[in-house]
Amino acid sequence: MRIDVRELELGPLALQGEVLPSELGFDSSEIQVLEQVRIELTAERQASEIRIRGRLTANVGLPCSRCLEPVRFSVATEFDQFYASNAEHPLQGEIALQQKDTEVGFFLGDFIDASDIVREQILLNLPMKPICREDCKGLCPHCGKNRNLQDCNCEAVLVDPRLIQLMKIKNRMTF
Ligand SMILES: [Zn+2]
Ligand SMILES: [Zn+2]
Repeated sequence: MRIDVRELELGPLALQGEVLPSELGFDSSEIQVLEQVRIELTAERQASEIRIRGRLTANVGLPCSRCLEPVRFSVATEFDQFYASNAEHPLQGEIALQQKDTEVGFFLGDFIDASDIVREQILLNLPMKPICREDCKGLCPHCGKNRNLQDCNCEAVLVDPRLIQLMKIKNRMTF
């Protein structure tokens, strides 16, 4: 789904559609977009910039930060962003650029791709440390087992190293 910037000369444009997971460029990351993303938006020209407002919903899978099992998240968000043609914003010194960077996205040519908006919104709305459940026990740092599924004895064995020395001595004495 693309927004033809030239059409905005005639007035605002309302669009709705779907963006496929394969269009989002997350293939090599941990982020799995599980189905097509529904997006609706209004685009309009405001002075030299394009303002795009709308909402989208996406279902995303992410590995739990403790046990690595996939967790499903729903992203439902509204956005309101400004875009400027790269050609209309030649470098104007660092201060101007820094101010612009935080507020305005850039596009090249005559189109703004909805997949760029979707990608950015998903990244902004995902949790930094996803967890599958509040009391997820995570992976055992010693043997790597998922402690939600299986208990291991590592904690019991890994006691104070000085105590292990004592236990060795004691064992030697016993056997
Ligand atoms: Zn977990
Ligand atoms: Zn273990």
